[in-house]
Amino acid sequence: MFPLISSTSAGGKAGVSRREALRLLGLGGATALLASSGGLRAAESAAVAAGVKLSGQPGFYRFKIGAHEALAFNDGGFAAPFDQSPYAAGVADGSAQIAETLKKAYLPPDKVQVPFNVLLVRIGTEWVLIDTGAGSAFGAAAGKLRAQLAAAGLGPGQISAVLISHAHGDHIGGLLDDDTKQPVFKNATHYIGRREFEFWMGADPDLGRLPLGAEVARQMIAGARSVLGALKDKFQLVAPGEKLIDGLEIVDAPGHTPGHLAFLVSSGDEQLLHFVDAAHHHALTFAHPEWAFAYDAQPSAAAATRKALLDRAAADRLRVFGAHMPFPALGHVKPIAGGRYEYVIEPWLPG
Ligand SMILES: [Zn+2]
Repeated sequence: MFPLISSTSAGGKAGVSRREALRLLGLGGATALLASSGGLRAAESAAVAAGVKLSGQPGFYRFKIGAHEALAFNDGGFAAPFDQSPYAAGVADGSAQIAETLKKAYLPPDKVQVPFNVLLVRIGTEWVLIDTGAGSAFGAAAGKLRAQLAAAGLGPGQISAVLISHAHGDHIGGLLDDDTKQPVFKNATHYIGRREFEFWMGADPDLGRLPLGAEVARQMIAGARSVLGALKDKFQLVAPGEKLIDGLEIVDAPGHTPGHLAFLVSSGDEQLLHFVDAAHHHALTFAHPEWAFAYDAQPSAAAATRKALLDRAAADRLRVFGAHMPFPALGHVKPIAGGRYEYVIEPWLPG
């Protein structure tokens, strides 16, 4: 996205001239000057002089899982107001404990960042997309996956398989084009867990005593049924343990939704566990895996799944990916005293 420009092409050892900086910055906003600190300063000054607004963050990250090429995409995200935080549902002094845990993690005390991440893995000739981001379900805060794919040089037509972990809006919202209501990933085989599909499409999906209330439950059910219903003839229904693609294992991870799935990608000695929504926040959920998350359909099953997956990741020193971990959402799970965990963020590498 940001091609490097050598100091020579950018105007010589002394950095770039103001005119050259303006010319380069004028290339559709897609050119960055990193020739030297002098060149960078000149480019910044030129940008300010030209009224260029510097904004946005890179939203894709390329890495490898053994022989497999992989990309993490940020679909967007938002800051949850602290008083509506869903992270300690039913905990008596939940707000105070959240504040204390955020403080210990050097995070802002008054709001909780919720990034949305999507994983793409190239296995042999297959481009396998795990979940699709939010589409328009979260307004302008998310739905950036298609733009991020384009930034990485990919189009939705190249995706050959789409795996859906569960039918919440931030995971299935990108399946249908808003205007045409047609599948975005039109060349892809679509997979979803049979249990998940049958839960949402059944006569009366039971979200238990969802602490967010009946209206939120009604909206979740309507959203899921509308997307799954539109794609009901396209979906292939799968079960945990089923072999779809060599190097990709479907892992049972129920609780957040009844048919929630996780995924284990393997190549040679390397593995990546995508735990999806089995853990929702890198500080809060790891420090307090026993806390119920307000959107969990089955809180005790969700807590058991969380413990099982985090224990497995810790014991096997697995590299992990999570839909709501800090982008690019790669890390490891470190066990600490009292059945708690620490999320260890993987260093970002240029590549
Ligand atoms: Zn989610």
